[in-house]
Amino acid sequence: MDKAYHSLPLLVAALGWEAEMYKSLRPVKGFAAASVLAQEYTRCYTPITGNPPPELDTEISRSDIEKRGLLDFEVDTYVHVITSEAKEGMYPQSMVEEQMRVLNNEYQWSGISFNTKSIDYSVNDTWASALDGPIEIEYKQALRQGSYDDLNLYFLSDLGGGLLGFCYFPESNPSAQQQLLDGCTNLAGSMPGGEVPNYNLGYTAVHETGHWFGLYHVFQGSSCVGTGDYIIDTPKQKTATSGCPLMQDSCPGRFGFDSIHNFMDYSYDTCMTRFTPLQSLRMLWSYATLRAGK
Ligand SMILES: [Zn+2]
Repeated sequence: MDKAYHSLPLLVAALGWEAEMYKSLRPVKGFAAASVLAQEYTRCYTPITGNPPPELDTEISRSDIEKRGLLDFEVDTYVHVITSEAKEGMYPQSMVEEQMRVLNNEYQWSGISFNTKSIDYSVNDTWASALDGPIEIEYKQALRQGSYDDLNLYFLSDLGGGLLGFCYFPESNPSAQQQLLDGCTNLAGSMPGGEVPNYNLGYTAVHETGHWFGLYHVFQGSSCVGTGDYIIDTPKQKTATSGCPLMQDSCPGRFGFDSIHNFMDYSYDTCMTRFTPLQSLRMLWSYATLRAGK
């Protein structure tokens, strides 16, 4: 199954939608309809054009980190599970705890840990199938906790659009609405032991949380030239990875192979193993600069 092929119309739709969202933070009709043809899941549609603040459009150097004396971070995390009536009880607290264990395990090498402050459950068919827009605002008004340096993870049983998740980049001066929307939304079945084939080891939340810390996709820009993801130790990569190939080199003229095992690619969960050192530095810098203390 060639996920990238099936996802192309989605990507085009998402790009238009995201550009519009940045202007208005309102949904554009038609996106959900366009995505129906995707039988396979699309890993993520966190904005990949236009949306991030200019502070993120830079390479982070080691001296930036040292100047700021960055240490390890513990991020207070609020988890919200929203299910339809039909799926009530499918995602027990033990599954959420395993999800948080995976998150902590994979971020420990980056100097980041997550302290689970609370896990709450809602049964609401409308919320559970929402993608964005007024319904997203409604459930976040009801559930969101903490401040801008706290992580809110939402797990929806029937997240719209055939998507696994999306998240919001850190903003330098977030508006009240941006603070409300902040956090990552994930398909509940992507949690460890969930029902989503190929994506049920908990790496959707790992990937989305990477965006929350300011990381782009490793194929950002879809080009072998240009700034890409602003990370020097992820080689240039033109296309998202589908499945888990033995190797892939979408920019054969450039140094290195594609980062198919990187958490910020689109590979299957079994394929994902790492952030790079400079991705870790970027996350620490983003958190210290754009979130901590806000
Ligand atoms: Zn993503």
